Amino acid sequence: MQVFERVPELRAFLSPLRAGRVVFVPTMGFLHEGHLALMRRARDHGATVVSSIFVNPAQFGPNEDLSRYPRDLEGDLRKCKDSAVDAVFLPSVEVMYPAGHHTTISVGELSVPLCGRSRPIHFAGVCTVVAKLFNIVGCDVAIFGEKDFQQLAVIRQMVKDLDYPLEVVGHPIVREPDGLAMSSRNVNLTPRQRAASTSLSRGLAAAREAFERGEREPRLLESIVRHVVSSQPEGEVDYIELRDATDLSALDGPVSRSAVLAVAVRFGGTRLIDNTVLVGPLSRSRA
Ligand code: AMP
Repeated sequence: MQVFERVPELRAFLSPLRAGRVVFVPTMGFLHEGHLALMRRARDHGATVVSSIFVNPAQFGPNEDLSRYPRDLEGDLRKCKDSAVDAVFLPSVEVMYPAGHHTTISVGELSVPLCGRSRPIHFAGVCTVVAKLFNIVGCDVAIFGEKDFQQLAVIRQMVKDLDYPLEVVGHPIVREPDGLAMSSRNVNLTPRQRAASTSLSRGLAAAREAFERGEREPRLLESIVRHVVSSQPEGEVDYIELRDATDLSALDGPVSRSAVLAVAVRFGGTRLIDNTVLVGPLSRSRA
């Protein structure tokens, strides 16, 4: 496995490998099984797997957890190697945003609801860094996790709008045995917060069960999640919303097309997100 800190060296390494497909998995490091599942999935899509580890300051708001974001470079490189990654790109902030960097990419509508409401600059930061990484790596395929459902929708839109010649692949959420969606941020939870954090996946599972029994009312499905999440005092709800799974538009009437039930809860300075996609049979009436 090769490790690159600078763009020209990474490009030189990839140049002779472009005849096969280059598959890219961008991350912010402190890698867990969720990231590694993406890396293993990458292997199914092409001959060369590239991952990046970069904690992108541009996607953190001024009062967010950039300084507390966990890091473990040595462990990460070992995990990448064990996951058969061919090259890791490890740029510094100066490499990604040298003095004089002025361009920001923002994807309108899709960046506004859900996480965009409490994190107004977040998706512009994500799109800018991902656009740069796509240009640097020149990948044929990029793999993203469905845990960050809105991010995946925003990236798909950006790829379409900016004519990136690449395929975006979504990978299902990888969870801890007790249901908590794996996240680098989970390490920052106190034991009490960690115990309470399972309320996100439990709430979503309860709503999913109701959906499978025939419940189609968006507000009712949201209230099932709210009930479970509010039953523990540790977390403060940021949002619990059922939206169209493709364009993230609000659902006012009964669910009649594929929808995503998304949740964000703050545990002190740690904000966790989770979601579940509700798909057919959509026309069944309420049980
Ligand atoms: P991050 O390092 O948190 O920016 O995540 C890098 C990539 O891994 C993103 O595409 C995430 O959606 C994905 N990812 C993070 N956690 C999970 C998880 N629990 N399951 C699936 N994908 C994940």
